[in-house]
Amino acid sequence: MNKKSIKGNVFSIKKFAVHDGPGIRTTIFFSGCPLNCLWCHNPESKCNLLSSDENDFISIAELIKKVEKDSIFYDESGGGVTISGGEPLVQKEFLIDLLRALTTRNIHTVLDTTGFSTTAVFKDVAKFVDLFLYDLKIMNNKKHIKYTGVSNSEIHENFEYLTTIDKKVWVRFPMIPGITNDTENIRSIGLFIKNRKNIQRISVLPYHPLAGHKYKKLNKEWEMGDLKTPEKKEIERVCSIFEEYGLKTFIGG
Ligand code: SF4
Repeated sequence: MNKKSIKGNVFSIKKFAVHDGPGIRTTIFFSGCPLNCLWCHNPESKCNLLSSDENDFISIAELIKKVEKDSIFYDESGGGVTISGGEPLVQKEFLIDLLRALTTRNIHTVLDTTGFSTTAVFKDVAKFVDLFLYDLKIMNNKKHIKYTGVSNSEIHENFEYLTTIDKKVWVRFPMIPGITNDTENIRSIGLFIKNRKNIQRISVLPYHPLAGHKYKKLNKEWEMGDLKTPEKKEIERVCSIFEEYGLKTFIGG
């Protein structure tokens, strides 16, 4: 067995997170993402996946030791551990091992995902996840390919699968002015997810330009230029359209 099958590449661990699922959580950010969203706010997630530096890898035992230190906060707040990225499904074996280790210890698990993977892998992973934070960005497939670099067909298939097994989902909608916030896209998402009992909410995540400095640091081009955070009125317009489809909306995480 090689090193990468027993250790994972994690670029950050955030303790006491309160926007990545219910209660107080530890969020573990996995490196690597097969998407290439124009607005990506985590460019550092793509930088060290191919690293051969031992220091960039961590074992399940080391991770569990870190997260168990805060068990008391998870228990008191109804929290747990969230796995985010990048796209955690890229490191599928390590992801499954970690989820299994967490569920064995009765730690609540959340997976923050794009849903982009084969259905076989997705089904294996879903068994160990209590709640999904699931991105839906653009319903039109051509536009989805244009702005994220991949097709949305597997993403939609995997989303459907979660409804068939009645798995809890919080949908996340990145609201990017001029790219995702047109009425047609919002209505298409509303239509796609309405009347699904497993969808507990939709979180509207308004674009913010804060990632610009990360790109500078990484010497990468930031293609969003001087695009501004949408105004409150515009965010409310988007939420009210989703609400027409019977969806509970939240602004932010
Ligand atoms: S899915 Fe997330 S991490 Fe991946 S490119 Fe898009 S914004 Fe960046």
